[in-house]
Amino acid sequence: MKGRTRLCWFSAIPNTTLKTTYRTPDDTHRERRGRDARQDMTAPRGRMAILGAGIMGASLALMMARRGYAVSLFDKESEPMACASRWNEGKIHLGYLYGNDPSLLTARHLLSGGLCFGRLVSELIGSNLEAHTTFSEDLYLVHRNSIVAAEALGAIFERVDVLVRSHADATSYLADVSAARSNRLSKTELADVTNSDQIVGGFQVPERSVNTRWVADRLCAALRGEPNISLRMASKVLSAQPVDGIDRKWRVAVASEKSEAFDIVVNCLWEGRLAVDRTAGIEPVPGWSHRYRLCLFGRTSQPVDVPCAVVALGPFGDIKNYDGRNFYLSWYPSGLLAESGELSIETPQALDADARQRFIGNVRATLARLLPSVSSMFDDAEELEVRGGFVFAQGRGSLSDPKATIHRRDQFGVNRLGNYISVDTGKYSTAPWLADRLARQICGIE
Ligand SMILES: Cc1cc2nc3c(=O)[nH]c(=O)nc-3n(C[C@H](O)[C@H](O)[C@H](O)COP(=O)(O)OP(=O)(O)OC[C@H]3O[C@@H](n4cnc5c(N)ncnc54)[C@H](O)[C@@H]3O)c2cc1C
Repeated sequence: MKGRTRLCWFSAIPNTTLKTTYRTPDDTHRERRGRDARQDMTAPRGRMAILGAGIMGASLALMMARRGYAVSLFDKESEPMACASRWNEGKIHLGYLYGNDPSLLTARHLLSGGLCFGRLVSELIGSNLEAHTTFSEDLYLVHRNSIVAAEALGAIFERVDVLVRSHADATSYLADVSAARSNRLSKTELADVTNSDQIVGGFQVPERSVNTRWVADRLCAALRGEPNISLRMASKVLSAQPVDGIDRKWRVAVASEKSEAFDIVVNCLWEGRLAVDRTAGIEPVPGWSHRYRLCLFGRTSQPVDVPCAVVALGPFGDIKNYDGRNFYLSWYPSGLLAESGELSIETPQALDADARQRFIGNVRATLARLLPSVSSMFDDAEELEVRGGFVFAQGRGSLSDPKATIHRRDQFGVNRLGNYISVDTGKYSTAPWLADRLARQICGIE
């Protein structure tokens, strides 16, 4: 497709009514105020189909329904929020994790979304996230095989600190980060956390995470309570096609149902997105990947004192202790069940009982070698679920390869073909922010 730029905020597609090419959300914020953005993005009010009821589709559905649109929200699952948006770690990114992108493009691209996540989600669900947010800052424990050495990582973190501190929304994060500063742990501080010779350094950074299961339950309740939303669950979307030109109605075809026409269609299908985009006439930009990752989600019978930690930087693991009792654990090499650069990918089969036990044992043994206090989470667990989800990325390669494009996330966003819009959510943490901007633009508010 001639003239098609990388996938970014409202990238231009030839032969559409959309004239403006946007680069990054920050650029967009300035440029969007320009001449034709309002004209191009103002859609006729009316019936809207949102494909995919993850955090992206659910947030957009609530925002549009509350502005008076009649929203049909489609998903192949029997419940909304049943996939990656329920079963993930919930890190609300400020950019530190992407320490292998010294251009800081990824950090810049993630920051605005992360800072307003708490405010926007609270508005959507009508309650505060505070009790469901990790109460301590994240520890980044630098593995001896890290793709970025501890010194270099520290230097990147300092640059991310400056970005965070100087952002206009720095006080709106899950905790006030207007004085954000990452701190390198002293030898004594590091020894208090780990005695492993595999960990060669440590940092405390001001990032937090939210309990995604709690958020998912609240979003489901909000969707069910919204009269302008019709939930179309157990509906696998097959295609979207223009009825009579791309600037008019679009028809959505769903397995075993009659197809239906809508004034505007927004594709938020995550791992299913590219296949439906192709039916709509949008060819995917080469270089994407799908991965399916398994993790552990649990609850202890009593509070445990385990810090939130990321083993950095490469194919390692994470520990999240949301509130003392609810936790998330992952060890990347054990949990990576599938990886593909194909257009679509099947959900891997659930583990059988033996494989499940082996997975749990493996995650426990590996993480406890690095952070011994993790064992208490298993000893006191009253619930332990092995769950997973897809990661879509406009990037590829192994996490252990510093040159792999998978280490950058600066190209997610929105793509439009007339009244058909396709959204690459990027991260959980950026979804409500993307939804908010898209909703405003569709309604002509910006
Ligand atoms: C293990 C793991 C850890 C992660 N950790 C983090 C993190 O800490 N922070 C962060 O910001 N992000 C994280 N992510 C990424 C994050 O989960 C995703 O970016 C986010 O959930 C995507 O939201 P979504 O609404 O686009 O997709 P989803 O939540 O997957 O929603 C898409 C929906 O589309 C439906 N669907 C797909 N195809 C079809 C079809 N053809 N017809 C009908 N329905 C269909 C699916 O059933 C699904 O409900 C993690 C992901 C994983 C897997």
